[in-house]
Amino acid sequence: MAAGGTIYVFLYHEKYKVVKLFFYLTMGFSPALVETSMSNTERLHELACGGLIYFLGVVFFKNDGIIPFAHVIWHLFMATAAAVHYYATWKYLYPSPTDFMRHL
Ligand SMILES: [Zn+2]
Repeated sequence: MAAGGTIYVFLYHEKYKVVKLFFYLTMGFSPALVETSMSNTERLHELACGGLIYFLGVVFFKNDGIIPFAHVIWHLFMATAAAVHYYATWKYLYPSPTDFMRHL
C-alpha cells in the first residue's frame, strides 16, 4: 500500500484525494480483516487499536489546510498506527526465542 501510495503521488499528486484516502484506510483496516477469519482473537486487540489510530488520523487528513499542521499530525497518527501493527505482528506472529528453541 505504501508503494502504491508513493506511485500514486508521483503520478497524480493531489488530483484524486479520495484514492489517497482509500489507500490509507485499506492499509489501516486490512490487518484487522485477518481477525475475522480467526477463531481465537483474544490477543489481537492491538490490530484493532492500530486500525482505530489510522481511522482517527482521517480527521487530520481531511482537514489539511484548516487545522494547523494537520498534515504533520496525520503523519504522526500513521506512524503510530504502523508501529502498533508492527508490534502486534512481532508479538503474536513470531515465536519467542524460547519457543523456537523448544521446537529444535
Ligand atoms: Zn506527507
